Amino acid sequence: MSEAKSITVARGDGIGPEIMDATLHILREAGAQLEIEEISIGEQEYLKGNTSGMSAGAFDSILRTKVFLKAPITTPQGGGFKSMNVTTRKALGLYANVRPCVAYHPFIHTKHPGMDVVVIRENEEDLYAGIEHQQTVDVTQCLKLISRQGCERIVRYAFEYAKAHGRRKVTCFTKDNIMKITDGLFHKVFEEIAVEYPDLENEHWIVDIGAAKLADTPQSFDVVVMPNLYGDILSDVAAQVAGSVGLAGSANIGPEHAMFEAIHGSAPRRAGQNLANPSGLLMGAIQMLVHIGQVEAAERTHNAWLKTIEDGLHTYDVYEEGKSREKVGTAEFAQAVGERVGQLPDTLPAAHYNKEEAQVKTNPPYERPVVVRQLVGVDVFCEFRGSTAEIAELLQQANADNLQLRMISSRGMAVWPQGFAQTLLCDHWRCRFTMDNPEAGEALPHGEIVALLDRINRTGLEFIKTEGLYYFDGKPAFQLGQGQS
Ligand code: NAD
Repeated sequence: MSEAKSITVARGDGIGPEIMDATLHILREAGAQLEIEEISIGEQEYLKGNTSGMSAGAFDSILRTKVFLKAPITTPQGGGFKSMNVTTRKALGLYANVRPCVAYHPFIHTKHPGMDVVVIRENEEDLYAGIEHQQTVDVTQCLKLISRQGCERIVRYAFEYAKAHGRRKVTCFTKDNIMKITDGLFHKVFEEIAVEYPDLENEHWIVDIGAAKLADTPQSFDVVVMPNLYGDILSDVAAQVAGSVGLAGSANIGPEHAMFEAIHGSAPRRAGQNLANPSGLLMGAIQMLVHIGQVEAAERTHNAWLKTIEDGLHTYDVYEEGKSREKVGTAEFAQAVGERVGQLPDTLPAAHYNKEEAQVKTNPPYERPVVVRQLVGVDVFCEFRGSTAEIAELLQQANADNLQLRMISSRGMAVWPQGFAQTLLCDHWRCRFTMDNPEAGEALPHGEIVALLDRINRTGLEFIKTEGLYYFDGKPAFQLGQGQS
């Protein structure tokens, strides 16, 4: 018998306490060796004034045990409250969100019998960096940040996961036909790392058609890795088309710490009625057992659950007249799973885990590529209410010999020197100044940018921000304005 592992547990809000009790009952019956440290999170902590949504000392428990089993919480509506999930993920560096989406046909209604897809979502970067600003009266912005390190570790995680779990293929979704630099980096890193895994198939889909295919014919996917925003949306879609979001669990994995949960929320309307389905949290808990190396207990738990599903004991959310045998409450469902520990499913494929699965290796040391970085110009974003011709005239007064206005765009679309009358104009202009002949390899001194800003300031124009324009190894590392030639 393995040694007991300390874990941190939060019972959460709404249906959280009921589904956590049910989950812990099943884990105990399956022989999981756990020492539980309970912490308080969620609504009551927010309402006490803890803006992080956690009691004092709760985070220390997670830091100590390194493993957090979390029931859903209710995030109070309105400003001032930080998302506890996002804070925990980022504070602990939980960069990989792993969400298996499985159909249990013919026992639970599904659009796709045979679906068995694992969505691996990058969990920290992308538009979720939370760097948002209102720049002018008319225009807001959110920065999409994608780092090479972030791409390398999530893509490597996906391939290692596929290898450890006996999967055959890893698919990458990005939108790099539009976001050529940010999503382009994700795709490029995917291609670089894929060659290290010759035994696994790899492929890339543009996310829009990939998403359509995932919802329509998920059987053609196996492990799918993607940046944060697409992963957030598509992992819910995948779980729902498999059967129900109520059946899916997720793991949030970092280099040292990990958090396990159901993917659904606290369903406050169902709270306290012994109605909720504990399966999503239980699936998260099974991922946790595998993570901490208690693979026999994970297997016993999973197979007892599969057998219960086969036996037709279903909570209200997946109950179907004629298909299910009995509609059961949360506690009765947990009881039934506990009683089936030691049994295997008859029809559904039995779960099998091996120790290696706990050892998904990540984080080889990052090697920063050696590249020559050359400043060649600047995009100056200005606030201005007037015509294109007026702003162009003002900006041209700021031209210098080796730093000239080349393009003005409105929300990305070039409006000067050429443009279309149909383009919507607002009070936000991107004004591109570049040096002559950057291909010659000479870098623009930074002082030239400062001097340019001073000249723009003296025209009376207000600049909101600047974005340096660089060549990397002699090639532009920025996009042309749309419509710019
Ligand atoms: P929800 O997932 O809590 O519930 C939506 C509906 O799905 C419920 O009304 C219920 O009919 C059904 N449902 C969900 N889980 C179920 C289960 N286990 N068994 C049976 N039925 C289930 O989504 P919501 O109503 O949009 O959000 C409620 C609260 O949960 C909000 O405060 C939200 O911020 C929070 N939330 C928390 C998390 C988390 O803690 N990880 C995730 C999502 C939402």
